[in-house]
Amino acid sequence: MGLQGVTKKPHALLIPFPSQGHINPFLKLAKLLHNKGFHITFVNTEFNHRRLVKSRGPNALNGFPDFHFEAIPDGLPPTNTDSTQSIPALCDSTRNNSFIPFCHLISKLNHSHDAPPVTCIFSDGVMSFTIKASQQFGLPNILFWTHSAGSFMSFKECKNLMQRGLTPLKDASYLINGHLDTVIDSIPGMKDITLRDLPGIYRTTDPNDILLDFVAEQIEATSKASAVILPTFDALEHDVLEALSTMFPKLYTIGPLELLLDQTSESKLDSIRCNLWKEESECLKWLDSQQPNSVLYVNFGSVIVMTHHQLVELARGLSNSKKKFLWVIRPDLVEGEASILPPETVEETKDRGLLVGWCPQEQVLKHPAVAGFLTHCGWNSTLESIANGVPLICWPFFNDQILNCRNICREWAFGIFYTF
Ligand code: UDP
Repeated sequence: MGLQGVTKKPHALLIPFPSQGHINPFLKLAKLLHNKGFHITFVNTEFNHRRLVKSRGPNALNGFPDFHFEAIPDGLPPTNTDSTQSIPALCDSTRNNSFIPFCHLISKLNHSHDAPPVTCIFSDGVMSFTIKASQQFGLPNILFWTHSAGSFMSFKECKNLMQRGLTPLKDASYLINGHLDTVIDSIPGMKDITLRDLPGIYRTTDPNDILLDFVAEQIEATSKASAVILPTFDALEHDVLEALSTMFPKLYTIGPLELLLDQTSESKLDSIRCNLWKEESECLKWLDSQQPNSVLYVNFGSVIVMTHHQLVELARGLSNSKKKFLWVIRPDLVEGEASILPPETVEETKDRGLLVGWCPQEQVLKHPAVAGFLTHCGWNSTLESIANGVPLICWPFFNDQILNCRNICREWAFGIFYTF
């Protein structure tokens, strides 16, 4: 398409942190903006772009004149594997290496004949190098933190907690000596919170922890953004949102995004999906053959790595439950070992359990056969469950999953805690 006809459209450049749990809400936001008349450029890392093309086919990301994909390097050494990248390594690498390629991309887009000049940037809250880029190009930068308001507030407290000596922990004995149960009464909008409830990054004993330093830096940069958006809603997180609104006057909520998208008729963009793994949608047919409210859906998202022992215990639990289940075992769910299940549990559950490697989760959660969701409490999974009224069994592993689990079970009461 030539420049004629596109020049008047506003052009939004969206750049998520390169992991599935950030790409998905950004893609929904991109579709909503497109629906409001924006020309869209969606930026992935080269590593993820290659995986998307592999899982969806070479043409899956093309074919829409006003919805483009671009890729920039993540700064990590090249690799041919498709496994989930290390989150701390990506945090460090993107903050140190992505600024220059991102500026080159903006220049390229501004000189393109196929798109109007970039008019605004929507970047991930943890990709704050984009603020400097937007200042350089005189563009507004809206930071999209893909977490709950509670997690965002907890990250905002990072420096305070460090200054008060609450984190990093002095040594491993602090994990068991009651220190984690100290009530932290100073977090605005959050009552009766202990260190144990807060995102797992605060349980580190490493005085030079990369993630603590990273979070403190990203939060500090947030105050320089033109606006901040969070995928949550007032009825769910009223107190903490009220407290945040005094700190960030231009803070807006846009959750659950799936419900906002449902209200639009964006069917022509439905085929744009960004799954890093190949979706096994046959599981929907299997669900069609099950009774309403009869299946437990089990999935631990895109980043968690569990031990072989945890995998085996869960397999035995599902076998002993005698319930029907759909269990997603990502190819890289178990570190360094093949996901080998005990043969007796495979045999015992073969008529009532289905195992797949990756599924269309939102369609699964919408399915009438699904009665509950055993989840790691990632924020997207939590919101997608809320949007579809699915109760949860919570097994959080790290970071914001810990606080999400606490709120799901204690504040919002639509889940129970799974103790392993
Ligand atoms: N997801 C999916 N199919 C799967 C597993 C996950 O489509 O088999 C999607 C899920 O719908 C969600 C995202 O991947 O949008 C995972 O994000 P979440 O915040 O729940 O967890 P994370 O992967 O970041 O730990």
